[in-house]
Formats: sequence, C-alpha cells, structure tokens
Amino acid sequence: MIKISRLIHDYIQRDEEGNPSGTIRALDDISLDVEPGQFIAILGHNGSGKSTLAKHLNALLFPTEGAVWVNGLDTRDQNLIWDIRQTAGMVFQNPDNQIIGQVVEEDVGFGPENMGVPTQEIWNRVEESLKAVGMYEYRKKSPNRLSGGQKQRVSIAGVIAMHPRCIVMDEPTAMLDPSGRADVINAAMTLNREEGITIILITHYMEEAIRADRIFVMDEGKVAMQGTPREIFSRVEEMQALHLDVPQVTLLAHTLRQRGLSIPEGILTREELAEALLGGN
Ligand code: ADP
Ligand code: MG
Repeated sequence: MIKISRLIHDYIQRDEEGNPSGTIRALDDISLDVEPGQFIAILGHNGSGKSTLAKHLNALLFPTEGAVWVNGLDTRDQNLIWDIRQTAGMVFQNPDNQIIGQVVEEDVGFGPENMGVPTQEIWNRVEESLKAVGMYEYRKKSPNRLSGGQKQRVSIAGVIAMHPRCIVMDEPTAMLDPSGRADVINAAMTLNREEGITIILITHYMEEAIRADRIFVMDEGKVAMQGTPREIFSRVEEMQALHLDVPQVTLLAHTLRQRGLSIPEGILTREELAEALLGGN
C-alpha cells in the first residue's frame, strides 16, 4: 500500500525578509513499508517528524531525496497528485477546520461531488459512509451542533465517501474528550477490520496504539523503533528514553516484574495482567 525509500525532507528556513537562511531536516532517511489492510500506529514526541511524514503520504509534501509510493503511485510525479490524494485520504487534528458543509450529509458529499461522482452514487456513498462511522442519524443536522468527536467522525465519513484505499489520521483525537476519542478510534478500527481500509494513525495516546498491527516510533526524523505493540511496549526503558509512555497497565506490569513478580514484559491489557498474576499462583 505504501512504500517509502530513503526519504529525506528538508524544510527551508527563512529570515525576516523571507530569504532562505538554512534548512531543517524533518525526515532523515526513512524507509518503511505498509501492507494493504494493515492498521499502523505512528508514535513520537513533538517535532519528531510525524506530521511531515503524513503529508508525504498524501502528496502534500514532496521528497527532498528518496521516494514515496502510494499504491504504486510515485508522489514525485506531478500528474499523479490527484490519484494519490484519492487513494490516501487525510484526517487532521482539528475537526473544525475540515468541515465545510452546513448540513452533515452535504459535508460528506462534498468530496465525491468534487471528484465528479454521479449524483445518485453520491447519495449512496454519503449514506454508507455516515453509517460506517455511526453518524447516519445526524445526517440532517448542522455540524456546528455536534461534539468534537462527532465532528471528527463526520470528517472521517467525508474521507470514506471518496473511497480511499488508505486513510492517514494525524492526531485525530488530540482535541477530543475520552468518549469522543474512543468513538473515533472504534470507527477507524471498524473501517480497517470490516472494509479492509489501510489505516495510519498518528497519536500520542499509547492506548490507541495497542490494537495496531504494527507500530513505528519516530525520533528526530528517523524511525527509532518498529514492531508489534507487544514488542514495542516491552521496551519500556527505550520508550522512556524517547520521552514516550507505555500504556498504564504495561508500566504497572513492568514495575511489578522489576519488584520480582514473574510476569512477562509487554502486557497490554488488564485481562492479560490479571491472567499473568493469577496464572502463576
Ligand atoms: P511532529 O508532527 O512529530 O510534531 P513535524 O513533522 O510537525 O513533527 O515537525 C518536524 C520538524 O520539522 C520540527 O523540527 C518542526 O519544527 C519542523 N517543521 C515542521 N513544519 C515546518 C515548516 N512548515 N517549516 C519549517 N520547519 C517545519
Ligand atoms: Mg504533528
């Protein structure tokens, strides 16, 4: 679905007059592959390059060096930009900046309409997309009256209506309360598991990464760690050195283990911890 080869991204810094004064290397030799249908989480502290990477997947930025292919489409080819954006939809942090329609269903129909999808087909897609994120009953409402989590689900519906193979979500839950966060993550999970849409979720909530097929941890523009959630969250000290947490229950299990209890590293859920504690006795 995605192939990144030796990607480097330099931003040009400018002085007060707007003249180039230097460069910032935001991505430093990134190589990675994502298989179709995977649920990927990308973690990393602020400034590690996550958003820059996300923008490369949507052809919003172009490689300084190296290359990015989205479903085989090379982002360096200007003629492919619209195909790429249609293949990999993007959901951003702030739902208020993404909703433009006055009515939910109209907002969701905007993308397919711009793509020239026939009217009847647009209505089918709007219905199916709103149902997929659990927002169908709000289709006649004004987006202004929705909660943050509901708005974000409408944004996701707007992306789904364009029938992307892949959705890149850049901290989609950062501005939401816990229940809105859970709804958005569950909607993403459902799209992945039931529709086979590849999901790339950038988040700083470790709990949201637990169910990913694979995690990439970024640091200073590089992929510092990669593996399954269990592999990544087993490496508690390394994560802490990168100024990242592990899920609370993982940390508790790690601490108990250090104190001498015989439980494995990489406990991800309360059930697993209970099992590990009771199983040994
Ligand atoms: P993250 O999303 O992980 O917080 P970003 O990709 O936003 O990281 O930023 C990576 C680095 O690139 C940071 O050092 C940031 O300051 C820099 N950067 C991001 N956007 C720009 C820009 N438009 N111009 C110059 N530097 C930028
Ligand atoms: Mg960011």
